[in-house]
Amino acid sequence: MTMDLRSLTYEPVIEKLNTLDQNLPPVRKRKRAFGKPLSDLGLLASMPPELIQATLTQLDLQSLANLRMVNRQASSTVDSVPMLRAIVKHAPHALRGALKIETAQYINCETLHRTLHTTECKTCGDFGTYIYLLTCERVCFSCLVYNRNYLPCDFTTPKKFEALRESLLDLPHMISLPGIYSPRKERCRKRLLWDRRSILRDASDSIKAQLEKIEGPYYTGVYADKTRCMAVVEILSLDAKTGLVIEGFHCLACRDSRSYGWNGQRFNPRRAFWSHSFEAHLVENGPIVEGRHEATNARQYQARYRMTLAWNPFWDQST
Ligand SMILES: [Zn+2]
Ligand SMILES: [Zn+2]
Repeated sequence: MTMDLRSLTYEPVIEKLNTLDQNLPPVRKRKRAFGKPLSDLGLLASMPPELIQATLTQLDLQSLANLRMVNRQASSTVDSVPMLRAIVKHAPHALRGALKIETAQYINCETLHRTLHTTECKTCGDFGTYIYLLTCERVCFSCLVYNRNYLPCDFTTPKKFEALRESLLDLPHMISLPGIYSPRKERCRKRLLWDRRSILRDASDSIKAQLEKIEGPYYTGVYADKTRCMAVVEILSLDAKTGLVIEGFHCLACRDSRSYGWNGQRFNPRRAFWSHSFEAHLVENGPIVEGRHEATNARQYQARYRMTLAWNPFWDQST
């Protein structure tokens, strides 16, 4: 970050969500087997090494994990795939998390590697610091908390849904890892959860009606929903050209803003930026003068005015 930007921004020091990466068990160090491998790759060995590598990057993460278990030769071949090495180095939680909740079967090595080298949230284009492991999408804090697409559907209870659950096993789903996911620190047991967009797109009308019945008309699905954090881990963002880590930061002028979830997320203090998106934020809302966005054109004035209204407790925002 340049000196100029540093004076207008601050590093994130806000509380973390209880996501899957915080519930993963510690990594156990396994004893490495020494000596030369006794078996080879079988038929695979007849392919040129470059072709084997190219094929492995197209495999899903679960198949790669299974192949690693075949023998020592297979294990070292999988471990030498450059894309997988980058994932193990920079996004180990995404890999372990996907294997733990059994969504690794939907994510191929190349897709996860590509997502690691993106910066923007798939939904809104803001700086995204999380990855949603049911569809391998980068997502920002605001979309994760306020967008229902990232809230998996829960058909765990009651028991009478057993037939329904079985009929949905072809759609992307996960088995959650028991742990603490809610801000209230309550412990959650194992759950079977489905990707919401897949259900809304591919499930029958009767299943959609069941979902509506379970969730009820007042189901808002914001923040406190523990199921939301069960499919999500934090992830770094790497520059596609240089491979360096892109650091996120927050806007100093928006630090004390209270316009959460309203007026889009324009002044949301939890909104993270990187240099490109921060420049766009300054163009949209005005340069920062004495710790505040100073409006210089009509659109910026309007945004400021709307934010002032959002501060007013007597203002009815629905009108
Ligand atoms: Zn977003
Ligand atoms: Zn700002």
